[in-house]
Amino acid sequence: MSHNDRRGFLAATAGLGLVAIAPGVHLMQVAQAQSQRAAGQPATKRQRWGMLIDTTKCAKGCDVCVSACATENGINETVADPRQASQWIRKIDIKDPQSGRQYSLPMMCQHCAEPPCVDVCPTGASMKRADGIVLVDRHICIGCRYCMMACPYKARSFVHQPLTQQNPEVPRGIGCVESCTLCVQRIDRGRLPACVEACPEKAMLFGDLEDPNSEIVRRAASAATTQVRADLKLNTGVRYQGI
Ligand code: SF4
Ligand code: SF4
Repeated sequence: MSHNDRRGFLAATAGLGLVAIAPGVHLMQVAQAQSQRAAGQPATKRQRWGMLIDTTKCAKGCDVCVSACATENGINETVADPRQASQWIRKIDIKDPQSGRQYSLPMMCQHCAEPPCVDVCPTGASMKRADGIVLVDRHICIGCRYCMMACPYKARSFVHQPLTQQNPEVPRGIGCVESCTLCVQRIDRGRLPACVEACPEKAMLFGDLEDPNSEIVRRAASAATTQVRADLKLNTGVRYQGI
């Protein structure tokens, strides 16, 4: 784990009283989800897409979710410096210094309801959709990277090199910043995010945080859940269970 990665991860886990024990960039876990908006319908405030990740199911060393994300979103470029690699989801291993308990969990854009990346963006390229998904419009991103500095989760990457073999549904480009889109191209067709679908342990649950009858809301009501760095009051759309 580089100094910058370690600093970012410690910042992201400080509110949990957890410490990093291993380089944090792989995998994700299980999933199960439900996508209830009819395909092709516009995003509305009636929904807020989110994810609940059960860390008790997430296996250390598994990176199925990371691979699924890369395949789905065309993240396949080779970079000479690993610190310049685009990474929309990474795996983090942490340890509770009090209990000694270890956790493995995926970290990505938390799709904050109050996103500092949007607040600092000078062009409006960083934006939040009506349904809560935080995106970057690559056509108006000027690559200033203010949003990368503002994000407490180190969730964003800057594209340093020309890209080839891209997924035409996932626009990316040199000189732009990017991050997890919750696989918006899939959600808008009523499908699950690629990581959720791929997780062999069904550790990731995708759903509508505004729907009291959704599984994600019902589970959140019956189990203790955590927002990473809840002290920042960003009201994240990604929640964790078991930490
Ligand atoms: Fe923005 Fe970072 Fe929050 Fe994602 S996690 S919405 S990139 S501040
Ligand atoms: Fe906005 Fe792009 Fe600058 Fe980020 S890098 S703040 S998205 S213009």
